[in-house]
Amino acid sequence: MTDGPVRQASLREHNLGLVLRQAANALRPPSRADIAAATSLTRATVSALVDDLIAGGLLTEVEPTPRAGAGRPAAGLVLSASGPAGLGLEINVDYLSACVVDLAGTVRHRDVRRADQRPGGPDQVLAEVAGLAADARAHAEREGLVLAGAALAVPGLVTPEGVVRLAPNLGWRDVDVPAAFDGLPVTVDNEANLAALGELHAGPGGPASFLYVSGEIGIGAGIVLHGTLFRGARGWSGELGHVAVRPDGPACRCGARGCLEQYAGQEAILRAAAATGTEDLRVRAESGELAVLGALAAAGEALGVAVAGVVNLLDVEAVVLGGVYAPLAPWLRPAVAAEIRSRVLTDAWSPVDVRPSVLGADAAVVGAAGSVVRTIRNHPARWLTRTVS
Ligand SMILES: [Zn+2]
Repeated sequence: MTDGPVRQASLREHNLGLVLRQAANALRPPSRADIAAATSLTRATVSALVDDLIAGGLLTEVEPTPRAGAGRPAAGLVLSASGPAGLGLEINVDYLSACVVDLAGTVRHRDVRRADQRPGGPDQVLAEVAGLAADARAHAEREGLVLAGAALAVPGLVTPEGVVRLAPNLGWRDVDVPAAFDGLPVTVDNEANLAALGELHAGPGGPASFLYVSGEIGIGAGIVLHGTLFRGARGWSGELGHVAVRPDGPACRCGARGCLEQYAGQEAILRAAAATGTEDLRVRAESGELAVLGALAAAGEALGVAVAGVVNLLDVEAVVLGGVYAPLAPWLRPAVAAEIRSRVLTDAWSPVDVRPSVLGADAAVVGAAGSVVRTIRNHPARWLTRTVS
């Protein structure tokens, strides 16, 4: 905020957001009168703002909830399920995915294509992602949704302009991603950051400070402190996969030795367990196969050593296991928790919760789509101006 007086237009922008979020966060659809009471705005002001939000496709009126007492109950207001929606896209080493999330946060479309993305190179991979985006847009339009924008999750270091400086496991360097998409505004972010934001906004009751660990072929982390993503001074925090577990360990793709990825990355686990994929690993772990249980325990131990260092440093209250770690959490969690118990100084009186991601393996792509939708919820005036012009 500036120090100057608030312009009338800014006030309206602020109040539009206030009213929209009342409908978004309420346990049951609020009426115009409920919103006026909760915000201290006048009934007339709320009504005018609600009319604008309905006209812009952001709110919808629903049948009133019956209530006791005299008088006709007023219509309730909910976020529109046929208004603007967010497109989430994800590039990972062994799959591409897309999803559409509506304004209310419901996933309306999902598409995953599993294939090794390393041989293709950036041009081919980005062309395939553009194809996924076009399919998702067609699907969204059939459901009466309008894509407001897209966010793309990548496993690497991304500049604020969306240039992928380095994605070691894809072999990408200095790839200008937004330039590959025309006609659709695309923001690009690190996949673990988007997944951590998805986790943060997945529902009430979650921790406000946590480390989200994204287990894929690489290992990324999203650091959330007091409800805010901590990106680091240059936006490149969270490279947990390249934290050293053993300084004299095997060589890593990054050029260093003994990085966590070499012990707990997806390929390292599959190799140790002689498994063909995550689902194979999960099924064989469930049947109690000792070699598989041993491989998962060893990966969990290495992960726990690295994560305990982060917890000692940042004092987060929870560690969320995401990506392929989510379905494998029953077998990874005990070893991770044991390392935290023995290495984190404060654990005796303030234990750290180790839990699987509520969004599961889709956290990054759902988080990406959710980030588009949250921008509209936080700044509805921008969307309304766009639809009017
Ligand atoms: Zn490394």
